[in-house]
Amino acid sequence: MLFKSKDKVPGPYDVIVIGSGLAGMTAANKLAKNGRKVLLLESHNKLGGFATWFKRAKGDHIFDVSLHGFPVGMIKTCRKYWNKDIADRIVQVEKVRYVNPQFEVETDFTKDHFTNVLVEKFEVAREKVEGFFEELAAMNFYDNSQMTNGELFQKWFPDRNDVVRFLLEPIVYANGSTLEDPAITYGIVFSNFMSKGVYIFRGGTDLLISMMKDELLKNGVDIQMHALVEKIVIEDKRAVGVQVKGHFIPASSILSNANIRTTIEKMTGVENFTDDYVEKTKQVRLNSSSCQVFMGIKKGESIPDIGELIFYSDDKDFNTDSLLSPKVGSQTFSVYYPDIRPQLDSRYAVVSSSNAKYSDWKNLSESEYKAQKEFVIERALCTLEKIVPGIRSKIDFIDCSTPLTVEKYTHHQKGSSFGTKFEGLEISMGMHQQVDGLFHAGSVGIIMSGWLGAANYGVIQSHEVDNYLDRVHENKA
Ligand SMILES: Cc1cc2nc3c(=O)[nH]c(=O)nc-3n(C[C@H](O)[C@H](O)[C@H](O)COP(=O)(O)OP(=O)(O)OC[C@H]3O[C@@H](n4cnc5c(N)ncnc54)[C@H](O)[C@@H]3O)c2cc1C
Repeated sequence: MLFKSKDKVPGPYDVIVIGSGLAGMTAANKLAKNGRKVLLLESHNKLGGFATWFKRAKGDHIFDVSLHGFPVGMIKTCRKYWNKDIADRIVQVEKVRYVNPQFEVETDFTKDHFTNVLVEKFEVAREKVEGFFEELAAMNFYDNSQMTNGELFQKWFPDRNDVVRFLLEPIVYANGSTLEDPAITYGIVFSNFMSKGVYIFRGGTDLLISMMKDELLKNGVDIQMHALVEKIVIEDKRAVGVQVKGHFIPASSILSNANIRTTIEKMTGVENFTDDYVEKTKQVRLNSSSCQVFMGIKKGESIPDIGELIFYSDDKDFNTDSLLSPKVGSQTFSVYYPDIRPQLDSRYAVVSSSNAKYSDWKNLSESEYKAQKEFVIERALCTLEKIVPGIRSKIDFIDCSTPLTVEKYTHHQKGSSFGTKFEGLEISMGMHQQVDGLFHAGSVGIIMSGWLGAANYGVIQSHEVDNYLDRVHENKA
């Protein structure tokens, strides 16, 4: 059932899921399908977390925040853990383009096409390309290799900045990866995308989340929105419930989809964990944040087919550090044609995204913040004009989100768009070994982030919760 925000939810529950990101929702759905009594609590006024959208001009414009592209695996995940109707709406992005001073490439983002481009356009020996892809495919999370992305590229394509740009740029945009990050994170994410291209949900994020909400309710998940969990209550080293607006809701287990550090340091309290674990948690680096410029095209206007995803850069060469600077000449454009939301009356929208550092935005005065936003908006417009001359006059809505916007709406520390760097995964997976009945699922470790990574991690952690609940019931019997 759907509780009202003022309701005092009684409980007890088998599991309370804190947060309705894709990991939280997928875990809640799976656990409910397994017969568990589940409560899903979300602080925002809608479900979805980063999988979100917003309307402007009385609903004339709808913008998707993170629906730019995900790997083909999302179809299987949605079919297996959601339903066929959701899975059937996932379609392939046909045209992904790179435009930069080093090269221009149009691709369907498949391994075959990438291989051809690397061999024919970049003139890399075929054995090298095949060797590179084989090494990626053989990468295993449990190998514990220390190799970095930089070392991986240097091994296969020494001193080929253009090749590195071609292979890494989309992933940098996707999850803030750098040349210093472990190669395993790149290998897994890139291999996922490379299996069969990039996909998107036809109907928009609003439709997806409303279909997921219906499915959750159908499977018996209780939901409350406007429900900020203040505290995870621990008794005798065991999670026993949560506190929302001072009200205690009891449960046999808790699965937090909130930011990993917030879960440990603020909601649970470090006194409930071992010193070593707390120290390791402090060392977990958050991932970068992002700026987005949302551009709505006037009713009756159109834009030509310029591709759905464009990695554009004026920077002469490729440098993952400079991609985080506010002055960066690189940004991704996602173009939404009318077929993505057939229910709207032939509307087009463009969203530009660039990676950003929280520290570049946090301490600005009000006027500096406004000026910085205007700079980012103007940069997006000027760049888009190079791709579609005259587009400025077709736009009747434009606004910009910043790392502070991300922080405000998601409670993610420092507005991190993709959770944590690799080391966050160990902390997340080990949480229930610290406190009985307390689990975490959500963007961590690069691998478990993005739409597919988060949803799949929700499934993985729901198995852990299920096993725990079985043990609790056995002990009671
Ligand atoms: C700008 C941007 C673009 C992106 N583009 C893509 C893309 O193209 N493809 C892709 O695959 N991924 C993309 N992503 C990443 C992807 O959206 C996320 O990795 C994924 O959606 C995160 O899911 P999650 O389960 O980790 O939870 P989140 O989405 O982080 O949700 C967590 C939820 O928990 C709630 N919450 C937190 N604290 C509390 C509390 N105390 N009480 C109650 N509720 C709480 C929050 O309100 C939120 O709803 C993008 C992200 C951003 C920011």
